[in-house]
Amino acid sequence: MVVVMAPGVDEAQVEEVSTRLRLMGLQVHRTDSRGRITLGAVGDLGALDVDDVRHLPGVQDVVRISVPYKLASRAFRSESTLVRVKDTVIGGPHIAVMAGPCAVESEEQVEQTAVAVARAGATILRGGAFKPRTSPYTFQGLGEEGMKILRRVADRHGLAVVSEVMDTSHVAIAERWVDILQVGARNMQNFALLREVGKTRKPVLLKRGMSGTIEEWLMAAEYVLAGGNHQVMLCERGIRTFETAMRNTLDLSCVPLLHQLTHLPVVVDPSHAVGVRDKVPPMALAAVAAGADALLIEVHPHPEKALSDGAQSLDPVMFEDLMRRMQGVALAVDRTIGPSSAS
Ligand code: PEP
Ligand code: MN
Repeated sequence: MVVVMAPGVDEAQVEEVSTRLRLMGLQVHRTDSRGRITLGAVGDLGALDVDDVRHLPGVQDVVRISVPYKLASRAFRSESTLVRVKDTVIGGPHIAVMAGPCAVESEEQVEQTAVAVARAGATILRGGAFKPRTSPYTFQGLGEEGMKILRRVADRHGLAVVSEVMDTSHVAIAERWVDILQVGARNMQNFALLREVGKTRKPVLLKRGMSGTIEEWLMAAEYVLAGGNHQVMLCERGIRTFETAMRNTLDLSCVPLLHQLTHLPVVVDPSHAVGVRDKVPPMALAAVAAGADALLIEVHPHPEKALSDGAQSLDPVMFEDLMRRMQGVALAVDRTIGPSSAS
């Protein structure tokens, strides 16, 4: 439930109400927004009499949240969450771009990619160090060494870093080297991992599971939020449907729906959705039109030599061209994208 405090309420009253809610066995998440304090109280509300809370001093209203995800819902927080990573704000009028190779292969490969994507206007460098591969016999990633490479290269180019954690033991390692912790599609319902990233204060990029419903996805986000980490982004990367012509089916209609259901920023990854290079640009343009707050795009300096996902990786020339075209679509939906000089 959401406890809306009266305008101008004093801190002692907020503290008193928070303490009472905790004594009822609830977890309390405070939000200060537009001069208004709200307390999100989550837990077992079964035996609770809402009027007991409504009549506490300083309380203006109490609203029950009817959907199963609470902290992720617009009812809990009507204002959109802004995720801040270095100089990039995700969830506001500017659309952020995260770009880089599927996997970190070498410092030279990451350096060449970073030069290209930074020049084209991306501000966040992506790269897998711990790779969730379908086959145990394919390249599994460089592990922590890969994250160190990302950090060194990103710092040289003023970029932030996003990289995947596959296991609870990766979280402490990633916290040292990366700015955004990615939870991959295969781990959307790895609840131990979600709890672990929820204990950190690093932004989390939570990918949609390949057969995850929107409600299951928001419940997964709820695990992270319940840990006190409120910097969560949702990333649509294609789902598995009856259609096998493409790698996955990009569910772009989830973008406007999520904006209605949740205050969390929505990211679209067209690369893993389509699986083939030439279909990435049209779906990236469509994602901007649909209202994505950020895009995640695989870029490799030599896609034909990539150790993973080369077929869907853009080369630097294609990426630069796409960034230019995305600016036009962004303008049409009152957003900006790409290099700040062009926005
Ligand atoms: C990735 O982004 O590197 C990745 C493996 O994506 P997904 O979890 O969406 O398959
Ligand atoms: Mn990939």
